[in-house]
Amino acid sequence: CKQDYQAPSGLLKGRVILVTGAGDGIGRSAALHYAAHGATVLLLGRTTSKLEKVYDEIEAAGGPQPAILPLNLEGATSHDYQDVATKIDETFGRLDGLLQNAGILGQRAPLEHYDEQTWLKVMQVNLHAPVMLTQAMIPLLRQAPDPSIILTSSGVGRTARAYWGAYAISKFGIEGLNQLLADELSSEGKQVRVNAINPGATRTGMRVLAYPGEPPAQNPSPDEIMGTYLYLMGPDSQGVTGQQFDAQQR
Ligand code: NDP
Repeated sequence: CKQDYQAPSGLLKGRVILVTGAGDGIGRSAALHYAAHGATVLLLGRTTSKLEKVYDEIEAAGGPQPAILPLNLEGATSHDYQDVATKIDETFGRLDGLLQNAGILGQRAPLEHYDEQTWLKVMQVNLHAPVMLTQAMIPLLRQAPDPSIILTSSGVGRTARAYWGAYAISKFGIEGLNQLLADELSSEGKQVRVNAINPGATRTGMRVLAYPGEPPAQNPSPDEIMGTYLYLMGPDSQGVTGQQFDAQQR
């Protein structure tokens, strides 16, 4: 458990870290924390105005100048991911960290009645996009001295629950991707590590959508669950790969 990990200042100094879904919720908080610990953060997301706000917050806090990469994962193809890779390669020549955080809830409905278009959209954003983005980023990660990938899972990606539909199945896919990638990449000389975080119930827009009747204040804010996100991006997690992490005590 790394929930209480205390990151030394400058933990991520000089690292280039790509965060998906960086405009809101947990991804926004991770981007701000990574920048506060010295990383150059590449902010990927679909709503440019939100990414610009995060950019401004990082600059105002005196962090390294970030970059904005607007991309809607719903319609993105391997060409778009290759474009992202080319831009990062031209500017930095490597990628030290990749936080795959963007996700959507979709519908809460019995499988029997689950809408087909919603199913395909959730699988696209939550599972296929992380697979294709990983494909495009692996060569850049190999160029970094201590590369780390973090995938975002969920409690229902480990034990399915009724009515969670494509969201649960996509997160099971993420857990599979974690195992598969860790096994493939650990056979290489210089290891790209990959691990999956289950954030646990966290006070974000998605949580409100999933549990509209719940008082938001009962869940921790994204800022309160950052220990594991920092630990897995920094050098203290060297050699740790293919593991499942919970960002909160159960
Ligand atoms: P939010 O809805 O608050 O934020 C999700 C982020 O992903 C937003 O910035 C959103 O962009 C972005 N995003 C969504 N769809 C796309 C897309 N098509 N293209 C690009 N970006 C997109 O969610 P959370 O912060 O709560 O969730 C973050 C991750 O944590 C998700 O993977 C979620 O499944 C997981 N998780 C969250 C839990 C919780 O309790 N909050 C519990 C377990 C897992 P925009 O702002 O433009 O919509």
